[in-house]
Amino acid sequence: MLLQLENLPAQGGEYDVVVIGAGGAGLAAALFAGLAGQKVLLVEHTEYVGGTTALSGGTTWIPGTLHSARVNPQDTLAEAARYLDNAIGERADPALRQAFLQAGPAVVAALEAATEVKFRPYPKHPDYISDLPGSTLNGRALEPLPFDGRLLGKLFAVLRPPIPEFTVLGGMMVDRTDINHLLKLKSSLPSFRHSLKLLLRHASDRLSYPRGTRLVMGNALVGRLLYSLSKLGKVQLALRTQASDIQHDEGGVHGLTLRQGKASRSIKVNQGVILASGGFNRDPEQRARLLPGIEMDWCPGAPGHTGQAQQLARGLGAKLAEGSLSPAFWAPVSLRRRADGSQAVFPHFMLDRAKPGMLTVNAKGARFVNESTSYHLFGLAMQEANRSTPSIPAYLICDAAALRQYGMGMVRPGGKGLEPFLADGYLSAGNTLAELAGKLGMDPATLEDSVARNNRYAASGVDSDFHRGETAYQQNMGDPSRGQPNPNIGPLAEAPYYAVRLYPGDIGAATGLQTDTQARVLGRDGQPIAGLYAVGNDMHSIMGGVYTAPGITIGPALVFASIAATHASQRNTRALTRDTVTQ
Ligand SMILES: Cc1cc2nc3c(=O)[nH]c(=O)nc-3n(C[C@H](O)[C@H](O)[C@H](O)COP(=O)(O)OP(=O)(O)OC[C@H]3O[C@@H](n4cnc5c(N)ncnc54)[C@H](O)[C@@H]3O)c2cc1C
Repeated sequence: MLLQLENLPAQGGEYDVVVIGAGGAGLAAALFAGLAGQKVLLVEHTEYVGGTTALSGGTTWIPGTLHSARVNPQDTLAEAARYLDNAIGERADPALRQAFLQAGPAVVAALEAATEVKFRPYPKHPDYISDLPGSTLNGRALEPLPFDGRLLGKLFAVLRPPIPEFTVLGGMMVDRTDINHLLKLKSSLPSFRHSLKLLLRHASDRLSYPRGTRLVMGNALVGRLLYSLSKLGKVQLALRTQASDIQHDEGGVHGLTLRQGKASRSIKVNQGVILASGGFNRDPEQRARLLPGIEMDWCPGAPGHTGQAQQLARGLGAKLAEGSLSPAFWAPVSLRRRADGSQAVFPHFMLDRAKPGMLTVNAKGARFVNESTSYHLFGLAMQEANRSTPSIPAYLICDAAALRQYGMGMVRPGGKGLEPFLADGYLSAGNTLAELAGKLGMDPATLEDSVARNNRYAASGVDSDFHRGETAYQQNMGDPSRGQPNPNIGPLAEAPYYAVRLYPGDIGAATGLQTDTQARVLGRDGQPIAGLYAVGNDMHSIMGGVYTAPGITIGPALVFASIAATHASQRNTRALTRDTVTQ
């Protein structure tokens, strides 16, 4: 499956479909093209397969599947469409979300029937704007089934490892279910059994592998896609390889020049090139234009998104779309230097900031955001607030009880082992709020007032400043076990008090190449560039920069990968006239 370019004849090779970028979207596009009988080359310029998808939660939002029918039989595609219309409006072309909704169920069914990609529904994972008509509490968000990485054989070594800080005990992956069991290890027999099984498997893995082989979340999705590709046998994978040129004439895209180390080859492409390079996030020029003031070091995504493939497309007349709520999707992140000198970027998705006993304040010590809102809106709120009062970094504050129960960022629950985090400044601590405020350079009276108001809201259950905990989505991120009237608000009452600095981190591109409903890249004249497709974060988000629900980048990535691969496979390349837009 792995291709060394120098093994192709000097005059080059010939493929039906070439996919650029081997993350979730690219692997899926290659898989669907292979299933359609095409000869496929998958080109990846890093040493790993998986991109940000391998680092991700792997949550996949696709309404209307059989899984959805099992946990939420009342839900319909019409309701999902109503929700998206309400949430997105004119920020993105409604025809694109219709195409996604219509194709989604069949795409999941095809993957599950013909490949090793399998999902299960989350029992509860609400849409993020859960007070909008059409939203649901469950059924639309799917989770990839855990995967046994040992099945990959030698290919396990090319699967991008997860974010180290998301693993425990030297590379053991854990998902939400595992975390819940591990936290109850001492108090529940089923949790003890589950945890023991995990630990024994991990101990046995570490005798032969550099990390755990029980893969969950995004790593499981990528593992399953890669395994399916390897079993299909029709797809070649060129790692550390980049396209330096796309050849194109009035009949469309028909060739590429590829470079791998010192080797360079011309490739004839019969049906199409699918761009799946993950977006612009590490392209300094586009970042400066689209994300001014946001440092690249705050991005928790994989390192490969140089934007180089999009530059090639722009050379053919493609353009980035406009009109989104935001050019990127966001999460608050905290930063820490690892022992090897690299920087850990930890996204605060759901384990801490929305929980009772946690508060977020700006540099003055005042609250500015509903801590339990979605990570996307939280990231946007930081940037908005920063225009009037320094809020980058913002400070996530908690008391000793909350730290013990939930941990904070890279600090694990339990309240032990804090010294290294205090020593390198990741964590700040004070025996009083005034002492903590002094260490953070903020006004002690403002911080004390923010905490006092929070503690009153904890007692009443009503946050009259930011309406924390008022929606089903927010409540799902809270913790009812603390017995507070509002599961998202608890008092900060037990010293010492702690703080971690938060920055807005871009977790993926929302602005991408403009496409039509077949994922064909459109030129400046609004017509498709024949034979050129964009999927995943290379494609302008159909959500218009609104984070509507869990899994809204990977869901559309898989669905449009199928749409693009199918269209490319069936394209009549004898017609020399340009394809016209079909809606
Ligand atoms: C920690 C984290 C958790 C997340 N969790 C979720 C989640 O649960 N659900 C969800 O929907 N979204 C989630 N996201 C966002 C999501 O992971 C990404 O939006 C999505 O994975 C992007 O998929 P992709 O295939 O477009 O890009 P990627 O998976 O990043 O793949 C792109 C690939 O293309 C390669 N590439 C780039 N340029 C070139 C080039 N010129 N030539 C060849 N190869 C190239 C890259 O190296 C990379 O391997 C999360 C993000 C983060 C950071």
